[in-house]
Amino acid sequence: MKILVLNCGSSSIKYQLFNMDGTEWDVLVAGVVEKIGLKGSFLKHQKDGKKVLLEGEILDHQAGIDYILGVLLSEKHGCIASLDEIDAVGHRVVHGGEEFNSSVYITDDVIKKMEECIDLAPLHNPPNLKGIEAITQLLPNVPQCGVFDTAFHQTMPKKAYMYAIPKTLYNQYGIRRYGFHGTSHRYVSSRACDMLGVDYKEQKIISCHLGNGASIAAIQNGESVDTSMGFTPLEGLVMGTRAGDLDLGAVTYIMDKEKIGTRSASVLFNKHSGLLGLTGISSDMREIQDAASEGDEIAQLGLDVYDYRVKKYIGAYAAAMGGVDILIFTGGIGENSGFRREVICKDLEFLGIEVNKEVNIGVIGDEKVVSTENSKTTVMVVPTNEELVIALDTKNIVEELANR
Ligand code: ADP
Repeated sequence: MKILVLNCGSSSIKYQLFNMDGTEWDVLVAGVVEKIGLKGSFLKHQKDGKKVLLEGEILDHQAGIDYILGVLLSEKHGCIASLDEIDAVGHRVVHGGEEFNSSVYITDDVIKKMEECIDLAPLHNPPNLKGIEAITQLLPNVPQCGVFDTAFHQTMPKKAYMYAIPKTLYNQYGIRRYGFHGTSHRYVSSRACDMLGVDYKEQKIISCHLGNGASIAAIQNGESVDTSMGFTPLEGLVMGTRAGDLDLGAVTYIMDKEKIGTRSASVLFNKHSGLLGLTGISSDMREIQDAASEGDEIAQLGLDVYDYRVKKYIGAYAAAMGGVDILIFTGGIGENSGFRREVICKDLEFLGIEVNKEVNIGVIGDEKVVSTENSKTTVMVVPTNEELVIALDTKNIVEELANR
């Protein structure tokens, strides 16, 4: 079964074509269309480890997906002889609100409900919907599925997702914690249990997704019970350009003093804060680490604030679950920086977390246990694979429908 996975952003479309056979899978080709609707749009495509860059005028999402389908069919770069070979398309959808607690087969009714979630994610859901609409036009007979970033966290109890603000704001506007990165947290937590040969439904897991965006989740008995991102992906950890947790009083104070409105405030806290804002150096962790190792004090402060925030959340979630059996690191930083993992886990022995420094420092992007043999908590690196989850969910949904 061939499944096309699409992740449609506002000006980009990431894609992977999976070949799935039982539990086996393979990525045939992958790539990204960038700068949609802008000058200099292009498609970066990868097949058998070889990369090509194809330029073209790509005005909108439909043209972008049409371009991708053309490349899949091309003799030189492609891997299919006919579009009929695509059995299903799986879409990443950022926000499913309270409506979607699992991946779904996309129908007109589902699209209507997705449209109702646009208010909650005005930047993300519209391009996701554009991708669905484009496939409906270009491949009208191919089933489509939606996999939501928020769905995994729908199991959170009320005490974790309600904010202490007037309840009418929840009733009227749906203001509550939704959480994001759910597909990643779900994948790495269940993958970790597979690797260890333990029952997913009996573990207390803390999953740290540390990429440009970053979040941490508490997963108990196979269900998300808390997570650091909230109503939007701005809350929680320090990120590349996002502030994470911040006193609400500071927000209104800054808006007052700087005489800025909601839009500018949103840009300030989403795009000009985080590691970039605090250090003034970069949003990229590698550049901050390099600067710190050359003695730059503000870069070191950025790292200290970053690590300390992750450590505090680990403590909080261990408290929330009454312990932690497995601690997972994933995302660009979590997977690749042994040093960050070591510093974050330092002095957490009282929680049963003991990192094997020699093993840990050498783990770059591999699946590996990095704790000592005596560590009560198993500390692991598990590279995330959200596209695979989307492909697997899509395959399962489509097969279930066919068997009905
Ligand atoms: P996104 O959230 O955009 O998918 P990634 O998960 O790819 O981002 O993470 C990007 C972050 O990972 C960047 O801050 C980058 O500097 C960091 N990163 C990648 N490799 C390393 C490394 N070897 N050491 C430290 N940080 C790294």
